[in-house]
Amino acid sequence: MIEIRNELEKIRAHRRHIHAHPELSFEEHETSRYIQSVLRENGVEFQTFDGITGILATVNGANSGPCIAFRADFDALALQEENNCDFRSQNDGIMHACGHDMHAAVLLGLASVLQKNRGEFAGKIRFIFQHAEECTPGGALSMIERGALDGVDVIFGLHVIANFNVGEIGLADGAMMAAADHFRIDVKGVGGHGAQPHLTVDTLVAGARIVVDLQNIVSRLTDPMAPAVVTVGKFQCGNAFNIIQEHAALEGTVRTLDDKVRDRIEQAIRQTAEGVCTATGASFQMEYKRGYPPLVNHKEMTALARKAAERLGYKAVDIVPAMFGEDFSYYLQKVPGCYFFVGCSNPSKGLISPNHSPTFLPDEECLEISALMLFETGLEYLKNRA
Ligand SMILES: [Zn+2]
Ligand SMILES: [Zn+2]
Repeated sequence: MIEIRNELEKIRAHRRHIHAHPELSFEEHETSRYIQSVLRENGVEFQTFDGITGILATVNGANSGPCIAFRADFDALALQEENNCDFRSQNDGIMHACGHDMHAAVLLGLASVLQKNRGEFAGKIRFIFQHAEECTPGGALSMIERGALDGVDVIFGLHVIANFNVGEIGLADGAMMAAADHFRIDVKGVGGHGAQPHLTVDTLVAGARIVVDLQNIVSRLTDPMAPAVVTVGKFQCGNAFNIIQEHAALEGTVRTLDDKVRDRIEQAIRQTAEGVCTATGASFQMEYKRGYPPLVNHKEMTALARKAAERLGYKAVDIVPAMFGEDFSYYLQKVPGCYFFVGCSNPSKGLISPNHSPTFLPDEECLEISALMLFETGLEYLKNRA
């Protein structure tokens, strides 16, 4: 019998250590060293790589069998912590405000327990300690390039999230999180005197028309049943009331859950800019940068996580997709798996601040819940295979 609960004190200690020493995406050197030292102490075999802080660890069971991967991210955010706990951030302006400290600690605990009990299961467990989730291009792709998914049959990951209370597990059968893209359009015209518009090409008018016409995309050009967002968050043009500007720039984000809709929207943005510029005599340049792809769970794997939640006595909550981005999506494009939310709010303890806020403080109860959820979901998978 593998007993995860025996490891809880250590998991809590790992979490508090990592929380106190947060590092920004792509700069997680100390965190990576800490993770390596715990793995080494526990005799877990692992690999590190030049140029990245991510780590791949593997525990081999007694006999051959399937390979299950668990993934945790471990980067923090540029935010000043306002919590007063004794393990609060010691690094000014940096904070584990998304709970990745919890994720990494849970995986460390699981790796240690499974290494101790490796005689008791068949197959392999791969632990992906991934850097830089918060910042595109993210760490997932570089981990995959370095072999994170080689030989892996199935993958599971989780996120602690304040939208739910401890004891609640958020599950989505298919699309769960969005593709998050960024675009910029530079409009070029001919500047001049505000009193002589006929001698100019007014980029403010052209830019403003582009902003308005972009609203047409979601309302008229995409399937009403397919969620999508086109938001222009930045529009820059002009600095004097009587000058017609020769340059306007606008920037925005596109969120979609489906690759076809995503392609359609990128094309429609370009066509919109083209149409307006043709009509006004302006020219334009557009840059469209793709962020993480949509995160789409596999139905059967989600069913396993649901079963695990029910057996453990947690409340499985069906969730609608969130329009955030998450680079776990890259793993799910390669192998079947499931990503789920673990509720971490606890109103009775006053722990209700949202992720990414300076007072975010997950209830540590969810360390146990997270570890058991991953472990039991993995067991469900093995049972189903047998
Ligand atoms: Zn985050
Ligand atoms: Zn996060």
